[in-house]
Amino acid sequence: MVNLSAQDIRCLNRFEVLRRFYAAPHARTRQDLAAKTGLSFATVANLTAELIDTGVLVETGRDGSGGGRPRSLLALNADRGTLVGVDVAETSVRTELFDLALGELAVDERPLVSAAVTPEHVVELIGAGVDAVLHSTGTPRDHVLGAGISVPGLVERERGVSTYSPYWAWQDVPMRDMLAERLSLPVHLDNPLKASTLAEMWFGAGREVDDLVVVTLRSGVGAGFALGGTLYRGSTNSAGEWGHTCLVFGGRTCRCGNLGCVEAYVGVPGIVETLRAISPGDPLLSVRNQEERLLGGLAARAADQDPVAMEVIRQTAAYLGAAVGNLVNLFNPQALILANQVADHLGERLLAETRAALADHTLAQPLRAVTLRLSSLPHDAVSRGAAAFALEGFLKDRDLFGSVSRARGARARAKAGTADEE
Ligand SMILES: [Zn+2]
Repeated sequence: MVNLSAQDIRCLNRFEVLRRFYAAPHARTRQDLAAKTGLSFATVANLTAELIDTGVLVETGRDGSGGGRPRSLLALNADRGTLVGVDVAETSVRTELFDLALGELAVDERPLVSAAVTPEHVVELIGAGVDAVLHSTGTPRDHVLGAGISVPGLVERERGVSTYSPYWAWQDVPMRDMLAERLSLPVHLDNPLKASTLAEMWFGAGREVDDLVVVTLRSGVGAGFALGGTLYRGSTNSAGEWGHTCLVFGGRTCRCGNLGCVEAYVGVPGIVETLRAISPGDPLLSVRNQEERLLGGLAARAADQDPVAMEVIRQTAAYLGAAVGNLVNLFNPQALILANQVADHLGERLLAETRAALADHTLAQPLRAVTLRLSSLPHDAVSRGAAAFALEGFLKDRDLFGSVSRARGARARAKAGTADEE
């Protein structure tokens, strides 16, 4: 991490302090925040003052339990504003409205008929979804702090452009500008991998660790990296295409055209191939394009000790253990999360088998340091993560936070006749 300005560092520290409030729903003292974040008490006092001035935090009382002078308790001000999170998936558009504490206020889901999906059609569905959640909750549009939108494929975030879609013939679509015009809201655009990773950082298993890898397992697979408490994006925001790294030299054909990719073994179509090899006439092979039914059927049969289903999960975990071992050796994370559809359905059995396989592919020291676990987030991780795009966008608002800092600095100087606090 190089060339960070004082303002960037202040912003990262603001995220760091605020993440502790999402980590546990109870109120916190400044002393507790300093201990949890490793920041100095003075820095925490300064950051929380700014968050109170902007209405993000409120004082809720005093804690006298530690003896000595009672300490102020701080909590998120859920009513400060709302956040919109949208998950554009292959077959549906899910729009959720959250309060600032990420309490869910309303959901709207609209089917997407994949025959003729144009960008204009998706923008219109998102627009209708946002109108619906605002209307059903009586939320005025100016109470919305921002809208985060997750679209499949590759996204150039700075320009707000969807450069490639795995499902539709889109290329270089200026989605952010199209959406900003339709929604009349600040719009933040990115993809489901970044959304899932950000959701884990803010609301899931990543709240208490600084170095985290999130492995997303559905039709496509990917790896999201939150390193040093920051989402790693790469130079053009395409970092994490781990699904297309080589696992088996000269192996199965992947949908990207290459041979032996991770995705061809641990993505849903890869799991189908493993099932076909073990049990060529298996009835589950006929539900190929219905992923929920396929994974649910496999999980139910494994729970009944069906040897075919158990063997499919064992082989999938063996591939996954090797592929995840590469990530552990490369990044030395504290936690590695298995997330999304495949992890949701195959759950503890997949986790235990993957953990066992991991030991054969990982150096002893990074293996000791890492905890492998399942995501604890509810089903809507992507729309929740998309709302976190909007949350981060709001917290980076230089006009809002900059003016508060300047006013506080001026007050401090006038009071003490000294230089700026930080
Ligand atoms: Zn591939």
